[in-house]
Amino acid sequence: MRILITIFILCVCLPLTAWGQDYYDVGVNHIKVTSAEKLSDKEELLICPMDLLEEGFRFPLPGSKILSPYGGRDGRMHAGWDIKTFPNDTIRCAFDGEVIMSQVFSGYGNCVIVRHLNGLETLYSHNSKNLVKKGEKVKAGTPLALEGRTGRATTEHLHFETRVNNQHFDPNLLFDFENHTLRKDCLRITKKKSGIKVKKVK
Ligand SMILES: [Zn+2]
Repeated sequence: MRILITIFILCVCLPLTAWGQDYYDVGVNHIKVTSAEKLSDKEELLICPMDLLEEGFRFPLPGSKILSPYGGRDGRMHAGWDIKTFPNDTIRCAFDGEVIMSQVFSGYGNCVIVRHLNGLETLYSHNSKNLVKKGEKVKAGTPLALEGRTGRATTEHLHFETRVNNQHFDPNLLFDFENHTLRKDCLRITKKKSGIKVKKVK
């Protein structure tokens, strides 16, 4: 019986523990990219999903399930959403834009950041391999990278962020991670001290 319990702990509990771990540690090493800030003090940026849809949209990791959402946990900030399919699956660009970063970055591992036409940036990290270079123009659906576990990650997955002015905000405000679609509400983004404020507009 004792052997059976040990086997159960090793085979079931340990993988479950690993499954629930990390992923959110990358918030500690929050990326600063030296791209021009989109917003000045008195400006505001309106991001509307309908406009983004018209320009083309692809969910970055079709068929993925959710591992971990955005937000604080255990006193740490998780700067994005973690989603998973299988190792080396193709990660696709969400919208048209230009690659502003494609390199290894600390806990993020292999990381790609794309700046879109309206100033929104999307970030894709822990990739086993990046497929694009800085300065490359990309379309919605362009393969950006392969799903991996580089950097601080305990399983293959995609750590996905949305950013404006080098600041991350919850991608769940724009993306429906259950249905792999865009949400309907526009977002009004304004500067707030050193950060940004993001508000839904009905
Ligand atoms: Zn993550």
